[in-house]
Amino acid sequence: MNPQPILLEHVAMERQTAWRAGGAARFGYAPSSEKELSVFLKSNSRPDLPLLFVGLGSNLLIRDGGLKALVIFTHRGLSDMDVTVQNNDTFFYASAGVALPKLARFAANMGFEGAEFMAGIPGSVGGGLAMNAGCYGSEVWDYVERVRTITLDGEIKERLPSDYIVEYRKVSHKRGRNDFFIGGWFRFNVGEKQKSRNRIKELLKQRVQEQPLSKPNSGSVFRNPDGEFAARLIENSGLKGLQRGAAIVSDKHANFIINTGGATAKNIEDLIFEIQSAVESRSGVKLEKEVHILGDHC
Ligand SMILES: Cc1cc2nc3c(=O)[nH]c(=O)nc-3n(C[C@H](O)[C@H](O)[C@H](O)COP(=O)(O)OP(=O)(O)OC[C@H]3O[C@@H](n4cnc5c(N)ncnc54)[C@H](O)[C@@H]3O)c2cc1C
Repeated sequence: MNPQPILLEHVAMERQTAWRAGGAARFGYAPSSEKELSVFLKSNSRPDLPLLFVGLGSNLLIRDGGLKALVIFTHRGLSDMDVTVQNNDTFFYASAGVALPKLARFAANMGFEGAEFMAGIPGSVGGGLAMNAGCYGSEVWDYVERVRTITLDGEIKERLPSDYIVEYRKVSHKRGRNDFFIGGWFRFNVGEKQKSRNRIKELLKQRVQEQPLSKPNSGSVFRNPDGEFAARLIENSGLKGLQRGAAIVSDKHANFIINTGGATAKNIEDLIFEIQSAVESRSGVKLEKEVHILGDHC
């Protein structure tokens, strides 16, 4: 008999999000496999609460008043990764909780190229699919062959890229299905192991030079507007170094807000509003958030 699932209460999301700030989720559940997750959802004891899937929390802020939701944490249990060959084609499967950098290294070590860009994105495969994460001219969905999803009722499905509208940092199902990602098959080109490893090293070095990685942050806070860079608009508005509480607009990369220690979610959100309003009054451009902010104010 399966043991009863352990529903965690009042889960401190500051420990689960890259900004290391914010309130608690009402309930949390960390399945150890997709089968366990399916059973759990089929007999969900809190169907009254919205479900939120969280990978590595690298693009997420929960407000200080907390989140009335049941959070499913994918990164511990949904961690399968393998490679299969079918009709001379090689497919990489990665479960939702696998870190994107791990998939990048796995593909490189197998002698395949294309996944290198994922090495510097500190999110999970599920988060990468949900956000269509990308950088250096590549995006996660450029390589998706099929995805595995789960419905609110625990039903597992397989879906094709053609089932989705895939945009810059945004993915939605064409017929509005609100399934969650539990894994994906990716197809990369045959390459050279050492060349891909070197490329990963170069890209990581570039990131260390360009991004303030020594303090908690959530990557780029705003989407780049068409034909512009959010960082340039913020810098040109003289906002580098702007501080609210322990949250500061990075001097190194103006589209990053760093937590210098003990910032609240409110400090971060206040800065976000101030940046939006200063940039809009200076340049007329309304910056749109890339980070997802959820939950209640205190
Ligand atoms: C230092 C740093 C650098 C970054 N650089 C980049 C970059 O170059 N390019 C880029 O695109 N992003 C970048 N990011 C942002 C972030 O890493 C990506 O958006 C990543 O894809 C988020 O993955 P995650 O697992 O952390 O998602 P989370 O933060 O856990 O979740 C983000 C959103 O995705 C949803 N989600 C998560 N998992 C699932 C799932 N299984 N099914 C359905 N929805 C799900 C969540 O509900 C939430 O709405 C960076 C972040 C940091 C901190």
